[in-house]
Amino acid sequence: MGRRISLPSFTYTKPSLNASEGFPNAAEDGDKPVNAESGRKEASVNISYSQVEAFVRCPEAHYWAYVRRITPATSIKALTFGSDMHKLLQFRGKKFMLRQAAREISETFNENINALGDDYLYNLKTIWSDYCKQWRNTELPTETEHRFEILLGTYKGEPIYFVGVIDEIYEGELKRLGEHKTFSRDPSMISLHFAIQAALYAKARQLETGELPDIIQWDHIKSAPASYPVWLEKSKRFSVSASKSITEWSYKRACEERSIVPDPVWIDSYRNNNSNFFFRTPIEVNPDHVERVFETFKEKAKHIVSSGMNCHHHHYGRDCSWCKYQPLCYAEYSGADVEDIISRDYKEKETLDTDEKASDD
Ligand code: SF4
Repeated sequence: MGRRISLPSFTYTKPSLNASEGFPNAAEDGDKPVNAESGRKEASVNISYSQVEAFVRCPEAHYWAYVRRITPATSIKALTFGSDMHKLLQFRGKKFMLRQAAREISETFNENINALGDDYLYNLKTIWSDYCKQWRNTELPTETEHRFEILLGTYKGEPIYFVGVIDEIYEGELKRLGEHKTFSRDPSMISLHFAIQAALYAKARQLETGELPDIIQWDHIKSAPASYPVWLEKSKRFSVSASKSITEWSYKRACEERSIVPDPVWIDSYRNNNSNFFFRTPIEVNPDHVERVFETFKEKAKHIVSSGMNCHHHHYGRDCSWCKYQPLCYAEYSGADVEDIISRDYKEKETLDTDEKASDD
């Protein structure tokens, strides 16, 4: 059962199907050569939600990530629970591709086993298997990982594209976009309504198809597997204390490991906890919110392409403690040779992701 949030129906007050409205020089990109394969103007600039968010968080970090395009040389190859779940979710229902994705994840895991921990792969497999059981016989999306590129306008003759990847598109009577979100703590429902990324993707879809989606469906996946009931060695049975972190599947796994026949009463009881680990929240799309968010996004994108690319404002603060560019800022602060550190400890990003997919919040 998903947790459903009901809102009154929104009225459509200010639809805009012109992405470049308000963007400078929007009609002046005719002089750029067009790539025969992609149909895009050469020498274009991509702006994603992630990039704008990075800039707002800290222009200096944005500079390293999106202008210098460097990343720590020792960073684990994008192998996190959030991104791995996305790889699997992209191919659910497609056996061959799913197997291939699982093989790639296993290979990368074997290369990074020390950093990830021995139980990483087991936990991922367990969560994936429980997710599939929870949503068995539910509708599959019409399309997954839908990439979009929308011309926002031009700056000094260079086309600026708004780019991103929508996790899922459902083309039923009700137009739905699906976004996966892994979580370790229960997500705030208010933040789902405000979610900027979802509003931008709804707008992107409207610009592509002429229709605003009706619903954004958040697919929540807990990033830790369900627990086993406590085994009481003396009485050779499981504890009967209530726990919200045991599901029907973890209970069955625990029984199987001890060669015990699962008790139907406990299966029923723990079934109520399944939705603590996997639940879906449909949020009605609010057209006014979408317009507001898109206008703000365009303003920020304009600022980035016109003056933000070489902006070196340092937003020193809480984020510095987990920022991957901290050694560079510290080198600068202490007068050390920044370029020397870059040459030793950083590498060029192989690809510049159009989007960074859901990680634990
Ligand atoms: S360490 Fe702090 S100031 Fe430096 S780039 Fe990161 S967030 Fe910005």
